[in-house]
Amino acid sequence: MYRMIPKVDELLKSDPLIPLKKEYPADLLHKEVCFVLEKIREKIQSGESAENISMAISNISSDLETRLKNKFRNRLKRVINGTGTVIHTNLGRSLVPQELSEKVSDILGTYSNLEYDLENGKRGSRYSHLEEILCDITGAEDAIVVNNNAAAVLLVLSTFAKGKEVIISRGELIEIGGSFRIPDVMEYGGCTLKEVGTTNKTHLKDYANAITEDTGAIMKVHTSNYRIFGFTEEVLASELRALATEHGIPLIEDLGSGILINLEEYGLTHEPTVQESIQNGIDVVTFSGDKLLGGPQAGIIVGKKDYIQKLKQNQLTRALRVDKITIKLLEEILKLYYHRDKVVKDVPTLHMLTLEKCEVRERAEKLKHRLESLGSLEITIEESYSEVGGGSLPTEKLPTYVLLIRHKDISEQALDRKMRSYIIPIVGRIHNGQYIIDPRTLLAGDDEVIYEAFSSLEEVK
Ligand SMILES: *Cc1c(COP(=O)(O)O)cnc(C)c1O
Repeated sequence: MYRMIPKVDELLKSDPLIPLKKEYPADLLHKEVCFVLEKIREKIQSGESAENISMAISNISSDLETRLKNKFRNRLKRVINGTGTVIHTNLGRSLVPQELSEKVSDILGTYSNLEYDLENGKRGSRYSHLEEILCDITGAEDAIVVNNNAAAVLLVLSTFAKGKEVIISRGELIEIGGSFRIPDVMEYGGCTLKEVGTTNKTHLKDYANAITEDTGAIMKVHTSNYRIFGFTEEVLASELRALATEHGIPLIEDLGSGILINLEEYGLTHEPTVQESIQNGIDVVTFSGDKLLGGPQAGIIVGKKDYIQKLKQNQLTRALRVDKITIKLLEEILKLYYHRDKVVKDVPTLHMLTLEKCEVRERAEKLKHRLESLGSLEITIEESYSEVGGGSLPTEKLPTYVLLIRHKDISEQALDRKMRSYIIPIVGRIHNGQYIIDPRTLLAGDDEVIYEAFSSLEEVK
């Protein structure tokens, strides 16, 4: 049977491979040919029937085509978020408004003044493009942006407290998804963690008693992804301010979610804003660009000029620096924040979070109506809750309306699988044996794709 297997050279010269030779690089094709032939050899070895072997041999060119096509498939791609979780870490966290992609493509295929001072014709700084806007919006004196907030925290700790102690409340030793743990980051930053207080209560005197000549910083961490209720007490930043000043120690805060507007005005739980931290006298505040701010992945650091200057001089910034795409996207997103009255509509993350229940209901009705025209689906609309996600506002339940979708011949598990494998994958969720789509996180045009995905189920039958 081994003799039935064509030789590599002969196969490469054969007619069925001519179109593949035209389309794909020779070395890649050669490698795939060897792979496919090896698989056939293994089949013979494992004693498969002559019939199966000759079938495998006749399928060689179509197998090759499938494998090569697959090499060039779209790997990172658009999906439809039907989960209702707004800042969905696995689905890319925050969305940037579609209109902004044009501004980014403007500098993608061209040179830019990324690190060039056009006025003086000299080398400039990549951070200069964001400093003014960030200071205007947050009220800080200076700013720098790095790769993500984890990097921001690392940079701050390593700059101010390397070889020293950092005082932090036991109630704030958080772990964020993706195994970011404050105690571990301290270690990477070369600092010693000095825990004070207890899980539920920490007093000003706990901080005061912990200060020694080895203290590098006092740190506050916003417990963005959990809450402690009941007999609790934390020391406010404004109270720590005096203590830090008295001892000449930097007061730093990791805010995590980095909200720049007051969510209370939109009926949501109050989430501490960056502006508040600055007003409370925090020296250096770090937060994410792609959580509640609604921009690209970035770690934003704002605060007092002297401290931010120190961060800029740390060699570590070279390893943590942001790309021009991030800078451009952040610039454009931040400009939207100048329009206080419009920003909630213009930043998709904020828009989805503040959608009125009746607006979601309207969307749900529309989608239900569209899908029902397919006949094989049984759909009901039910009240439910959407989540904020991204480790932000963990206790917030956003009232919503979801579609419960049942297909007369397909189980909810199979339905879920089919939706995920559609050309534009649709990610819903399964709850109590039903397939669910929450319209809160759907974008314009998604309804149509969902309709097409469900109608493709009909064609298969
Ligand atoms: C999310 C979060 C981080 C990590 O931020 P990334 O931008 O994901 O790196 C750090 N600290 C807190 C408090 C957070 O909520």
